[in-house]
Amino acid sequence: MAKISIDLGKGAIKEEQPNELIVGIDLGTTNSLIAFMKDGKPYALKDENGGNTLVPSVIHFDENQRATIGNSAKSYLIEDPLNTIYSVKRLMGKSYQDVDQVEGYLGYKIIDEDQERLVKVRVNDRFYTPIELSAQILAALKSRAEKVLGETVSKAVITVPAYFNDAQRQSTRDAGKLAGLDVLRIVNEPTAASLTYGIGLDMEEEKTVAVYDLGGGTFDISILHITQGIFEVLSTNGDTFLGGDDFDRAIMDFWIKENKLEVSTVNQDKSLSQSLRLKAEEAKKHLSTHDHFDAQIGTIHCQISKTQFESLIQPLINKTLAACQSALKDAKLEIEAIDQVILVGGSTRVPLVKASVEKCFGKKPFDAIDPDQVVALGAAIQADILAGNNKDLLLIDVTPLSMGIETIGGLIDVIIPRNSKVPVKAGRQYTTSVDGQVKLKIAVFQGERDMVQDNRKLGEFILEGIPPMAAGLPKIEIHFILDADGILTVKAQELRSGVSQSIQMRSQYGITEEEMGQMLLDSLKHAKSDMAIRALQEARVEAQNIILSSKKFLKNNVEILSEEERSTTQKLVDQLSESVKGEDKDLINKAMDELNEYTNPLAHRVMDHAISHAMKGKKID
Ligand code: AMP
Repeated sequence: MAKISIDLGKGAIKEEQPNELIVGIDLGTTNSLIAFMKDGKPYALKDENGGNTLVPSVIHFDENQRATIGNSAKSYLIEDPLNTIYSVKRLMGKSYQDVDQVEGYLGYKIIDEDQERLVKVRVNDRFYTPIELSAQILAALKSRAEKVLGETVSKAVITVPAYFNDAQRQSTRDAGKLAGLDVLRIVNEPTAASLTYGIGLDMEEEKTVAVYDLGGGTFDISILHITQGIFEVLSTNGDTFLGGDDFDRAIMDFWIKENKLEVSTVNQDKSLSQSLRLKAEEAKKHLSTHDHFDAQIGTIHCQISKTQFESLIQPLINKTLAACQSALKDAKLEIEAIDQVILVGGSTRVPLVKASVEKCFGKKPFDAIDPDQVVALGAAIQADILAGNNKDLLLIDVTPLSMGIETIGGLIDVIIPRNSKVPVKAGRQYTTSVDGQVKLKIAVFQGERDMVQDNRKLGEFILEGIPPMAAGLPKIEIHFILDADGILTVKAQELRSGVSQSIQMRSQYGITEEEMGQMLLDSLKHAKSDMAIRALQEARVEAQNIILSSKKFLKNNVEILSEEERSTTQKLVDQLSESVKGEDKDLINKAMDELNEYTNPLAHRVMDHAISHAMKGKKID
């Protein structure tokens, strides 16, 4: 039914254009799902039979490389593990180096064979990038939505973990594009989950929220501060290898022990171990609402009580609680500062998980909305805002690490500081350090340390075509534009000539959440030594400039300066050059002072001489 509204200007009835459908997609490690808005409410899309909303993030390739996605692919995990791909999200934006320790855990082959060093997945004799594989999942979701809703779906909002870096966000965006979707926004998963509970929709409210997300293979805790519709990620923590799969594994190990089986025999028999794994998952789900599980696989007796299960998983849950404490510490918050706790992910259905989170935070968590759907529903709400149905809302995230460029001496000059709200644009003017310099290398880094070598390089480019000028004359403006998805565009322009160049930063490979946390920790640990190195480097750069200008001064004023003045100046320049080679910043500063003190009166004399020379013969009225 079309909405009717009145055009007050003309006093006429006008037919309102129905807003375009933009879907929200939760592209998960284990499961994905798609949601949409109808009559102002978000819904998770069910399959054609009105059943399942979850689409397992699993792809099976047959011998002709034809792909099957979702539930029908899942059964091949047992039958055809080499050609059945799962957990692709773990590989997004990663190099082989980043994931080689995961290889044993995956049933399929990952390889590193291209220069960009991004991993690929091998299926038969073909190679797929994680972007292509994610695109397959997204395309399946898109076609499912089109079938069920009976209209073309071409625009989407996709969610990613709050700690995803720009390479991982860009990969997700590229996967969407490849699937034929115009990705309007990449949104943080905890932001989407909060939106579903209505948090952030009221401009007046201010809240601090903890989003506890325990999925199949990953655990994330995010602390958000929300004010005036702005979502700020205060901290994130978690474990990229902890989730419901580990609960399944614990049950499996328990059965292996109870049935006196050899671990190595079970591990070698891929098909048996997958059957046991699936049975263990069934048991776990059953125990969320029952006290006992009992089944049989061949001669193997698979039974477990709820109490036994809980004692198996308590240490795993304790790990998640420790991560919550670390996240609070990083956000510099006491537990009482948390206004709300939101549960996300299928594994939060386990009663012991819920009870443990409640005990840890001292308040009942929000769990009324299906924890599997809560992120996708939030993505649909965000999509609706973008479609123009809720113009007052502005959703903003912050950048977790500072970004800047390398300046002389290997120092980083921060242009966008950590925790800046994105989207953000910032710029600064630079100049050349050598006469006649026609090129300038712009190297971009991310991190909190003072020296570039201790930070993470995002990329570099060369601004060419600067007209030759004396050092210090060119005006080079460097702009950083960080968009709402965390993708950085760097633009450099020489203002006198207008030459300009820009690139988008797509880092070659990603960093993990742990590495990011480590970078922040390192910056704190090394703050004092970094400051000392910065002071030393700055003294060195200043000294080099003084050495250069003193040499010029000596060369240009041979006639005005006495022999003794020249040799003393040269001696002091040599002394300064020598001090620069050392590590003592005080010595460099002392040598600079001595040289300055000695040459200052000489410089005045040279100036006076130049003025009187210029005035000679000129008439003064
Ligand atoms: P997600 O990655 O959020 O889709 O979560 C999937 C995980 O939730 C898997 O490990 C599932 O086995 C687990 N899960 C789903 N339903 C339940 C349930 N009723 N009880 C316990 N775990 C569940």
